[in-house]
Amino acid sequence: MELAVTDNTTTQASLENLMGHDRQALEEYFSSIGEKPFRATQVLKWVHQQGVYDFSDMTNLSKSLRTNLASEVSFTLPEIINDQVSDDGTRKWLLRLEDGNSIETVFIPETGRGTLCVSSQVGCALNCSFCATARQGFNRNLTSAEIIGQLRLANQLLVSVENDRPVTNVVMMGMGEPLMNYDNVVRAMQLMQEDFAYGLSKRRVTLSTSGLLPEMQRLSKDCAVSLAVSLHAADDELRNELVPINRKYPIRELMKACRDYTKGLPHQKITFEYVMLDSVNDSDADARKLAKMVANVPCKINLIPFNPFESSGYRSSSLSRINRFRDILMQKGIMTVTRKTRGEEIDAACGQLAGKFQDKTRRSARLQQVQFTGDVV
Ligand code: SAH
Repeated sequence: MELAVTDNTTTQASLENLMGHDRQALEEYFSSIGEKPFRATQVLKWVHQQGVYDFSDMTNLSKSLRTNLASEVSFTLPEIINDQVSDDGTRKWLLRLEDGNSIETVFIPETGRGTLCVSSQVGCALNCSFCATARQGFNRNLTSAEIIGQLRLANQLLVSVENDRPVTNVVMMGMGEPLMNYDNVVRAMQLMQEDFAYGLSKRRVTLSTSGLLPEMQRLSKDCAVSLAVSLHAADDELRNELVPINRKYPIRELMKACRDYTKGLPHQKITFEYVMLDSVNDSDADARKLAKMVANVPCKINLIPFNPFESSGYRSSSLSRINRFRDILMQKGIMTVTRKTRGEEIDAACGQLAGKFQDKTRRSARLQQVQFTGDVV
């Protein structure tokens, strides 16, 4: 189902966009203009909790401060250019960024919670063989404003009388490899956890990585959110093929990094993601190898049925194969769940997010958008 598109953006290109400033950065900003640091928490609440971006409406700031702020800075969000809802309630937004690139964000409603799948890059550099985002290559990192902007927009669009905090969980599992955009992702995740902004606990923010070891180590110190690791194979030979970053950070080292991540975080379990590819990685022997491989890591396993996209060259394993694979892992004492595929018919499922980015020629940029949305935006 197509919904009407709302344009709630105020483009104020010449003003510095503070949307991605976490509390510390905002406090520093206010100090730099001779204001008390507590202004930061006031403004955080207006913007991230109330959805008020216009300084003239921030009534607990003095008139002169409001005028000064309006002439220097802004809180600007990406623009929504497409909004789709699938039969199961999954909702996908295509967002246009200031430079004309676009990204996708997905909201997955479940009983008692609502999960937002957030993108961290335009495209992706990692080239995993079964992922649609990889096909478009890497364009650029998202700013922290563009990352947190996805959560702000979702909360704004989903808010209702019954539910004033519709997004209860965030997964950094959209387009891109979040740990390749470390600083901006961490800043945005700080804002997600900030009491004066979204107040999500570490447990409710999950970062998914294909396994960048140095950054995993940094993350455990800077912002130890829940960690999901994209495994997809039970030996190096196959993982080199499916997840090429494995050549740099092979399985043995990855397992050690996962163990280290959970140390000092007694309740932290790594979620290993394993995409089920027919006749590629789904045999009984693969399941047994996988069980052995993760035996020393506090973990659970998420089996993800492969979500198809054009000319991917892969098929999903059958349901009976997935169940058999799960049973073997469970028999070995490893908690395993099969991830429900959501939003398939609007291409909102794992690995199907494509967005679009612009090349330098206007004509082809226009064409790309026409092809994606079916109408000129
Ligand atoms: N770069 C990060 C996060 C992005 S993808 C990572 O690799 O973890 C989020 C999850 O979706 C990853 O586990 C990814 O491997 C998986 N995925 C990618 N393409 C898929 C597809 N076509 N079908 C099912 N899962 C896919």
